[in-house]
Amino acid sequence: MKTIYVDNAGTTAVSKSVIDAMLTIMTENFGNASSLHFLGQQAKEILNSAREKIAKCIGANADEIIFTSGGSESDNMALISLAYDGKKKGKTHIVSSVFEHHAILHTLQKLEREGFEVTYLPVYKNGIVKLDDLKKAVKDTTAFVTIMFANNEIGTIQPIAEIGAYLRDKNIPFHTDAVQAVGHIKLDVKAQNIDMLSMSAHKFHGPKGVGAVYVRRGVRINSLILGGAQERNLRAGTENVAGIYGMAIALEEATNNLTKNTKHLKALRDKTIKELSKIEHSCLNGDADKRLPNNVNMCFEGIEGEALLLLLSDEGICASSGSACTSGSLDPSHVLLAIGLPHDVAHGSLRLTFSEDNTMEDVDKIVSVVRKTVEYLRTISPVWDKLKKGEIKHVI
Ligand SMILES: *Cc1c(COP(=O)(O)O)cnc(C)c1O
Repeated sequence: MKTIYVDNAGTTAVSKSVIDAMLTIMTENFGNASSLHFLGQQAKEILNSAREKIAKCIGANADEIIFTSGGSESDNMALISLAYDGKKKGKTHIVSSVFEHHAILHTLQKLEREGFEVTYLPVYKNGIVKLDDLKKAVKDTTAFVTIMFANNEIGTIQPIAEIGAYLRDKNIPFHTDAVQAVGHIKLDVKAQNIDMLSMSAHKFHGPKGVGAVYVRRGVRINSLILGGAQERNLRAGTENVAGIYGMAIALEEATNNLTKNTKHLKALRDKTIKELSKIEHSCLNGDADKRLPNNVNMCFEGIEGEALLLLLSDEGICASSGSACTSGSLDPSHVLLAIGLPHDVAHGSLRLTFSEDNTMEDVDKIVSVVRKTVEYLRTISPVWDKLKKGEIKHVI
């Protein structure tokens, strides 16, 4: 059976050219970048070259890129730095949104326990924050604002340039978790007035366990990891040279192919949405246009997302669902609740995130298997039974 992988917001396959580049580094350029001998200096040059490539792809300068272990560390480092720096100036208020990734939300909760006050902006039915709400939320004591670039579950893209322009004018630092955006949509930290940005290689066909944070010149940052003087004293630990270079190659590849990939992905996405919307009592979650080119997120009334996923997996289809039963909680996704879906409906969600390797044949197979499986699950669903008998009302 052919594997159809459509969980690319979860992680992506490492591209062939990235593997080749990393293998060469691991076998031939394995030196420690802090060593003075020629192998060490080679490693240092590889790091410099990776830093330049990555900076160029996001419109930054090379000295504004700090390498980390991934998106979570970048988010932690940015938020904790901005918060503690704000506190020194008597600013202990933070603005964010209700549907951030847990790497942001859990860091904000830690800061709240330490006495910071956080305003969480709503995202409405379309899954997009409103600039007006942000304008009302900021105050004299606002230390910084953090709003994600694109949501990892429903793929909705936030008005980052507008927020950036407004905050730059107010002189309030602005961080964005761009883990789902980097390598997937056009992005320019200078044009969009972003002060700090998080990225992660494994979300754009690079290796896992490596990421970066962009820190605009002039913005202060503190290290989370203490030790050696790597990354200009900002992030201790021997650099993951192969991983970092792999990330640079992956991002260059994604950036060079962006227009071509976007066209292909949008065709896959839109065909899938069109076909799956024909299933009765289904809905698309999040704005139809302001969403990542590869993201489909839908709910089907009267079914359990987990059951659907497992049956899809039996047919070779690797997808994802918003509900978080796997994490031991019976609560549905905070993102789907944030866009106003009732618990019951939010439980019946399906996320399909394509990569450029997917084909229209994959879409045809997915559509036919999802249709068949939703129909089957409804025949054994007590909720669907009640909906049919009119004992409870349809919401979608
Ligand atoms: C995946 C993801 C992260 C975490 O990145 P890791 O590299 O897995 O730590 C953070 N934010 C968003 C939006 C993500 O999608």
